[in-house]
Amino acid sequence: MANIIDGKRLAQQLTDTITKETANYCKRYPRPCLTIVSSGADPASQIYIRTKLRALEAAGMQSRVIQLSEQVCEAEIAAHIARLNRDDDVDGILVQLPLPSPLESTRILDLLDPKKDVDGFTAENLGRLLTGAPRFIPCTPHGIMYALHAYHIPVRGAHAVVVGRSAIVGKPLAALLTAADATVTLCHSNTRNLAAITRQADILIAAVGCPALITGDMMKEGATVIDVGINRVADPAAPHGKRLVGDVDFEAAAARAAWITPVPGGVGPLTVAMVLRNTLYAAQLRHGCTPAKNTASEAAGC
Ligand code: NDP
Repeated sequence: MANIIDGKRLAQQLTDTITKETANYCKRYPRPCLTIVSSGADPASQIYIRTKLRALEAAGMQSRVIQLSEQVCEAEIAAHIARLNRDDDVDGILVQLPLPSPLESTRILDLLDPKKDVDGFTAENLGRLLTGAPRFIPCTPHGIMYALHAYHIPVRGAHAVVVGRSAIVGKPLAALLTAADATVTLCHSNTRNLAAITRQADILIAAVGCPALITGDMMKEGATVIDVGINRVADPAAPHGKRLVGDVDFEAAAARAAWITPVPGGVGPLTVAMVLRNTLYAAQLRHGCTPAKNTASEAAGC
């Protein structure tokens, strides 16, 4: 039976450290401030935003939300982002994804001042990640690297298979794993014979958004399995008739893997902790007081 990678516990430890660092920082500077730009009323996005706001407040940071309608146009979002880029009271800006159709997220994300881009999704920050000089590491991949490091799971020389190649999870994660000396295979919807590839993985990461896509027979005995997926599936026994599951068939995978992240309580809380970490870092950058060592990145070996 696999050991559980307890993302909730790790995230709490990291948050405690960030909270102390924030309190120290606030002795000389204003509280770090993150503004979230939200468009539309996607229920899942609203839950993620509330979770981030609660975490920011608890860590002693300021948070604001600009709520725009589902019908918002590119020019309107662009005007808000331009204003936030200029606003000296704002350290970090986060555009909540997904954006309502037909808005194009890549174009809009690239309007952010890269020094306030706490998600690390602008072309500049993604480029810096690829060239080995990261500024803001995207929060979910960063949280995963942090967990691998914290649980002493060997990455150097390991074969890491990442299923899902989005610009926010799969691609930056593949870059981080490569930088940490893993041999990386990046799979997607056109990958032929996915199971034959996933079975080779020492570290198997699923970031697709498809419940139980990864079954027990798709992994080798003793693998480390990181489940990024967040899917709401019907469950009459659950309080609201729905429950959260990942992309991995947890029971079957836990019987074969050596390490596994649960959903919920795995990658999600680490993502939120990294939002805090990047917000504090953005504030430190703007005030020219970046610490010589950066808690989370040092600990994640990034
Ligand atoms: P995207 O929809 O942007 O990307 C999904 C990826 O999965 C694409 O690369 C797609 O391939 C690939 N894919 C789709 N179907 C298959 C298949 N059958 N076999 C192999 N690959 C497939 O999703 P995101 O990266 O934004 O998110 C992925 C999941 O992670 C979602 O459930 C999301 O909710 C969750 N998530 C969780 C976070 C957390 O903190 N835990 C944070 C961010 C996301 P192609 O490129 O060819 O279309």
